[in-house]
Amino acid sequence: MFIHCKELQFNARVSKPDPKFARLLLEQFGGGNGELKAAMQYFVQAFSCKKAYPDKYDMLMDIATEEFSHLEIVGATIQMLLTGVNGELKNAADNEEIMKMMDGKGAKEDYIHQALFNPQFCVLSGGGPTVTDSNGVPWTGAFVNANGDLTVDLRSNIAAESRAKIVYEYLLQFTDDEYVKDTLRFLMTREITHFQQFEAALDMIQPNFPPGILQGDPRYSHLYFNMSQGEDYDGPWNEGLSSRLGEEWQNIKDPKKAVKKSGGLQNMTDTTGTCRSIEGVEQLDKELSGIRSKEVNEANPIGEVQWSVYPDEIDSPKKK
Ligand code: MN
Ligand code: MN
Repeated sequence: MFIHCKELQFNARVSKPDPKFARLLLEQFGGGNGELKAAMQYFVQAFSCKKAYPDKYDMLMDIATEEFSHLEIVGATIQMLLTGVNGELKNAADNEEIMKMMDGKGAKEDYIHQALFNPQFCVLSGGGPTVTDSNGVPWTGAFVNANGDLTVDLRSNIAAESRAKIVYEYLLQFTDDEYVKDTLRFLMTREITHFQQFEAALDMIQPNFPPGILQGDPRYSHLYFNMSQGEDYDGPWNEGLSSRLGEEWQNIKDPKKAVKKSGGLQNMTDTTGTCRSIEGVEQLDKELSGIRSKEVNEANPIGEVQWSVYPDEIDSPKKK
């Protein structure tokens, strides 16, 4: 269950209204890399790992709930930046008054400009946040990545934190309000924190590469296809050992020839560069399938289930 505390996690403040920046900040409210996306992503991921991986469940729920707290901070900041908009819109009978808002500039043109620039605040929401990005595109569940495999989900989260971080970094360049900057710096910093927390959880799961269970075909895992013509560059992606499987990169300089010669890579017998074999991979696939499915199945026996344990349950009539 959720209990709401009325105090914000961070003491968000603004120096003065700024509807233009409020619109940009919507990106972190209802945008694809925003706080609602992060909150929903970690929240949804947590369900599938509750029983088998209670430690990761706890972390995901803590971070998801913190992201909801960030969503609240962003929403509150947007609202403070829109101070005056709703009140003036309510003054529908006297639109002379409306001209006095927006930093005292006072011209009706300015207000019309604001409405054109910010239709979601001025015409639609009436001066509050909307669950959209900065262009008014609605938030969607399609932003949420949850794939039921912790090594995949944690990597999605590291990517999500990276994107959230850089959006705050960009946003910081579009406000001069020191109070707002303070808040943005806090929110940006927390994404740096979460990045490391997800990474630490991922490191704890061994092996965590490749993502999932199946090990991949050793004939193809260390091939670099030189698919673009022109000036070529070499680097650790096509020379030396691969970062995780430790195989030696085979740089196929002429992919057209290699593909034709091997019947579309079907007849490849050369396993230069790898110690992995098809038999070894099958063996590892079986072992890891066994271990991972046992972890999950043992934690989730089929039959009557209960999600939570309550401390006083021992006295309940059902248990007698
Ligand atoms: Mn956040
Ligand atoms: Mn975060």
